[in-house]
Amino acid sequence: MTDILIIGAGVAGMAAAEHLSAAGYSPRLVDNAARPGGRCATRRIAADRDADWFDYGAQYFTVRDDGFRALVDADLKAGRLARWSPAIASAEQVAGTWLLTPSPDDRERLIGPRGLNVWVRERLAAGGFDIATERRVERAVADQNGWRIDYSNGEHDRADVVIFTPPAVQTAALLGPRAADIPALADAGAALAACHSVVVRAPALPERQAIFFKSGRLSWVADNTHKAGRDGDRHLWTLHADAEFSDAHVDTPTAELADELIAEFAAATAQRAADMEIVRTHRWRYARPGRGAPDADDLCWTHTAAGLAIAGDWLAGGRVEGAWLSGRDAARHLIAAYALG
Ligand SMILES: Cc1cc2nc3c(=O)[nH]c(=O)nc-3n(C[C@H](O)[C@H](O)[C@H](O)COP(=O)(O)OP(=O)(O)OC[C@H]3O[C@@H](n4cnc5c(N)ncnc54)[C@H](O)[C@@H]3O)c2cc1C
Repeated sequence: MTDILIIGAGVAGMAAAEHLSAAGYSPRLVDNAARPGGRCATRRIAADRDADWFDYGAQYFTVRDDGFRALVDADLKAGRLARWSPAIASAEQVAGTWLLTPSPDDRERLIGPRGLNVWVRERLAAGGFDIATERRVERAVADQNGWRIDYSNGEHDRADVVIFTPPAVQTAALLGPRAADIPALADAGAALAACHSVVVRAPALPERQAIFFKSGRLSWVADNTHKAGRDGDRHLWTLHADAEFSDAHVDTPTAELADELIAEFAAATAQRAADMEIVRTHRWRYARPGRGAPDADDLCWTHTAAGLAIAGDWLAGGRVEGAWLSGRDAARHLIAAYALG
């Protein structure tokens, strides 16, 4: 049986694992984080299972592809996903004054009822996959017998086939000099743009639960407490800085930018920044598609004879759905090449 190692247990890794498993393989996954999920990142504010939670990476996702639709429908039925229908506003600063206008749409927004991270982890657990967390790959080198994997703790591993799903820069680093021959990695540094994320406890806004920003430093804010279907005067809000601001301050720790971002949220919503308390800050170096993202036509990059596949949202237009399509297609290419499907 072909031994397949998937580097990264985010949505792309999950989709690849599920499709390979359905075709009879037993792929293994490794991830350097403490838990699977990648940029589908959720935290609870306390250890108990019922504690309030917030998504500080992906906020929700949408569906276009029929295959992904089938998965989403099954997960809605199973209670692993839920629909979220916030009252959305759009915020714009005009001549120094913030204008908030309702921005309703009929888009279906999918969330995890306990956060998007829990959705990924529940799917991976249901698949019964062999997943090693806190396991950082340092380098993957192909030789006559397949792949040698070097871990940061000094251990080594082997596999016949490796699927890389980290962001482009990190995948290029793992492949070393070999990355120079891979067109998809040609502009790896610009494939994904940064995003500073701040979570605050702030008053609930009864008439709006999410805001798209058209100007200023923020791009999006959302009320996690509403997502969770909970009440209370003070809610957990995620604030995302926009791509231009985040890239301009990519080397600044988010904690140093938090006051600026909170002040903008407060000003746009006519609140007092003093009423907002920071719960978490996080700098995503590689968040959403950047100016160097490859053309999304191919969805993934594979060299099946070499036992090599590269997948991830950045190859497929970004977003959770893009990551899933990319992982699925990488698996399909390998299954077709090894005739196990
Ligand atoms: C702030 C923010 C907001 C977003 N908002 C949305 C949204 O609203 N809607 C939407 O659809 N999408 C959104 N996205 C994008 C969405 O989160 C991603 O498209 C998707 O989660 C990417 O999945 P992936 O599997 O391709 O990559 P990742 O989730 O990044 O998974 C890669 C995995 O590889 C692991 N890894 C990396 N290097 C190594 C190594 N050396 N060894 C071992 N493991 C390694 C990482 O730990 C990670 O788990 C957002 C992202 C961010 C950051």
